[in-house]
Amino acid sequence: MEQSEKIWLDGRLVDWSQAQTHILTHTLHYGGGVFEGIRCYKTAKGPAVFRLKEHIERLFYSASVLEMDVPFSKQQIEEAVARTIKANGLEECYVRPIIFFGDKMGLNPIGAPLHVAIAAWPWGAYLGGKEAVDVKISKYIRMHPGSADVKAKICGYYANSILASLEAHKGNYDEAIFLDHEGFVAEGPGENVFMVKKGGLVTPSAENILAGITRDAVIKIAQEMGIAVEERKISKEELKSAEEAFFSGTAVEICPIGRIDETVINQGRVGEITKKIKENFEKIVRGNTPSDWLTFVR
Ligand code: PMP
Repeated sequence: MEQSEKIWLDGRLVDWSQAQTHILTHTLHYGGGVFEGIRCYKTAKGPAVFRLKEHIERLFYSASVLEMDVPFSKQQIEEAVARTIKANGLEECYVRPIIFFGDKMGLNPIGAPLHVAIAAWPWGAYLGGKEAVDVKISKYIRMHPGSADVKAKICGYYANSILASLEAHKGNYDEAIFLDHEGFVAEGPGENVFMVKKGGLVTPSAENILAGITRDAVIKIAQEMGIAVEERKISKEELKSAEEAFFSGTAVEICPIGRIDETVINQGRVGEITKKIKENFEKIVRGNTPSDWLTFVR
């Protein structure tokens, strides 16, 4: 992983090598931490963070689910994100805020010290290098919404995602797709899923997934373009018969899907509608289409 020089930890910038935690860190053992993935893009007016407010809002929502008493305000964390990007001289990067319980053993985190860190590093396309990716429907099901608050981005949930990723990569696929507990299409390990049907977009409804910030952006971009968008249940058979399919997410941005299990989608190529949405998304994140979704780092 490419290093950046400075990491923001509990209110101050420290050197990369100093951004450490104890081996008995609660979150390391039990997964009770919360995090975000945010992208910052190079624009003509300098680095710009995409939908910073929404990401910090979700970070604090996730923290509230774990009853974390965050010792910083949302505004302070937003400013700390900008400060971290600036301190590392990054024009374009991925930003990873994390809030975690420190040194305490036993499942109950009450009384554990709380830490907040923000790292930023250059990170290219997450599933890059291919026009369209191959995905495997996972044998693992997405977490039951009765087992956890799926709207929160909690570290431990990602064990489910890691299992699906390992399974997909072992089968030579690029990524996995989860079904939910009812057998409908849910999401990727770190992405939402869209398909094109009769020229319109369809995406799984929000109940059983982390309905992402990029998903919301895609819906709004499509609607602006006059493309119909439907949020509803999708069976895996229906997904496989899609005209086009793609992932959305901060890390993957918009990533065409070319194969699902053995079924080739749109001849393994990026589809027309996916391409147009991707182009419009890129214009927005690069500041070439005016929007209120960018926070410029000054
Ligand atoms: N689903 C899951 C499980 C994720 O981890 C992510 C990444 N945060 C997403 C969907 C996409 O969300 P976003 O567009 O907000 O990055």
